[in-house]
Amino acid sequence: MKIYVYPHEILKKKAEPVRNIDGALQQFIDEMVELMYRAKGLGLAANQVGEAVRLFVMDVSGSDAPLNPVVVINPVLTAVEGSEVAEEGCLSVPEYSAKLKRPSSVEMKGFDRQGKEIVIEADGLTARCIQHEIDHLDGICFVDRLSSIKKAMFRKKWPKILAELDLGKNDEE
Ligand code: ZN
Repeated sequence: MKIYVYPHEILKKKAEPVRNIDGALQQFIDEMVELMYRAKGLGLAANQVGEAVRLFVMDVSGSDAPLNPVVVINPVLTAVEGSEVAEEGCLSVPEYSAKLKRPSSVEMKGFDRQGKEIVIEADGLTARCIQHEIDHLDGICFVDRLSSIKKAMFRKKWPKILAELDLGKNDEE
């Protein structure tokens, strides 16, 4: 399993709902969680690892806290409120971050990895992470949400970052 880097096509694809929670999916989830920790990310959506299905994992508890991976299948934002500007980054856009305005609190419904319905009400970092990951599942990367000026700056900077990291090629495996 690997993380696809912006602007790979898979990141622009709207993910399809998960229909079967089976053994293969459990293994896929375990691999995603492991990869998220290895990459030191707060969240990872299935499209980022090449599967356009509606599923993400996150852990915003911080590096000193015990691991607390949250798995959400078929998430739906049911309410958003407020507005907050904060720095945001993405495992598919390494070595880059930018300030982005988003609703400050959310309510989300979905299913856990056992298929049990869950409701999460969150604000702060958790709310931001949930919105960021659901965006991925809708084919949106956070850099797509930047203002036109910031986007232009990103477009200029990004090829240089890719070249330096030698990440330009999303080699298909
Ligand atoms: Zn991301």
